[in-house]
Amino acid sequence: MENLINPRVKEIEISGIRKISNLVAKYPGAITLTIGQPDFPTPEHILQAGQQAIAANKTTYTPNAGLPELREAIAGFVRSKYSLHYAASDEIIVTAGASQALDITLRTLLTEGSEVILPGPIYPGYEPLVRLCGGVPVYVDTSANGFKLTAELLAPHLTDKTRCVVLCYPSNPTGRVLSAEEQDEIGRLLAGRDLFVISDEIYSELIYDCTHRSFATVPGMREKTVVINGLSKSHAMTGWRIGFTLAPAYLSKHMVKVHQYNVTCASSISQYAAVEALTHGIDDALPMKEEYRRRRDYTYDRLIAMGFELDKPEGAFYLFPSIGRFGLPSMEFAMRLLDEHLVAVVPGDAFSTFGEGYIRLSYAYAMDVLEEGLDRLEAFVRKLEA
Ligand code: PMP
Repeated sequence: MENLINPRVKEIEISGIRKISNLVAKYPGAITLTIGQPDFPTPEHILQAGQQAIAANKTTYTPNAGLPELREAIAGFVRSKYSLHYAASDEIIVTAGASQALDITLRTLLTEGSEVILPGPIYPGYEPLVRLCGGVPVYVDTSANGFKLTAELLAPHLTDKTRCVVLCYPSNPTGRVLSAEEQDEIGRLLAGRDLFVISDEIYSELIYDCTHRSFATVPGMREKTVVINGLSKSHAMTGWRIGFTLAPAYLSKHMVKVHQYNVTCASSISQYAAVEALTHGIDDALPMKEEYRRRRDYTYDRLIAMGFELDKPEGAFYLFPSIGRFGLPSMEFAMRLLDEHLVAVVPGDAFSTFGEGYIRLSYAYAMDVLEEGLDRLEAFVRKLEA
């Protein structure tokens, strides 16, 4: 019977991140530096809002697009942060995490054979969703430009089948961020074309050396951009599953149909907690951000001292050093590091072939864990150099 299963689903593989994470369980005492989620607890006042929603039996369906008060809070958040105006009534959809926001966006925009530009190395969550829609992922190598997409790198890959360009900045896995000038340059290239930008801004609040500028603020881009964001990273709320889309009304009215038949609505309890997060918790990210910055600086300095090559990432909580000088494929490097020194990192090839020759380390871990993990990595590096 298995031969009857949709071949597109059969062809999807489990992600390289998951593969290595699954192996860690077999290595007692291993230090894991693979996880892409905050190690902080959800702030107390948000937990209480969730508990109050349960106590008050606010446990029914909400409107498909989300609680009106949550959409108002999201509209207020992007208005004050970016001076961007999105109507709570018909330009914002509350989703089950950024993941589902990506799914409804791609399913709304793609048809058979639609090409989707993915600047690699990139988060592995996009490609399977593109393929499930019958779309074709088109990777653009950004590694020679410090993992930043430019108009020059992008232009040769645009065809009349290009339907979407995905931007993921601050980037998973590289932590890099585009400057306003770099965004504007891409905007000028895309402005006159019939295609959409999907700007995944889930790490917008974790940015250390500059302020985040939403791609929807780039001149001419608002009408063709879907912004993806959510509370998973900013408020340490990964398990609550609250994301959202910002998209012009002519797009949102179709996306909300896909959303309706997919999940009806995001969890009502989580939505009440999210209202609290976006009305009284705007500054919740600040202390976490300061701690991430401290860890980033520490981890970066240690890697540089070990002889790794990398630019200092401006955002998210990842570092993506080159392992080119060791001449080992990234999977072999990661496997040996786990096997011989009990440290788990993600091989760069999990983020497309353009991630080969790199590894991803997450610094969403307490300082003493990072310290021990880096000591072990250093011992491995010294052994390979010997
Ligand atoms: N986009 C990127 C770039 C991510 O790193 C992640 C989570 N690792 C997601 C989307 C999914 O986020 P969520 O948990 O809100 O679905």
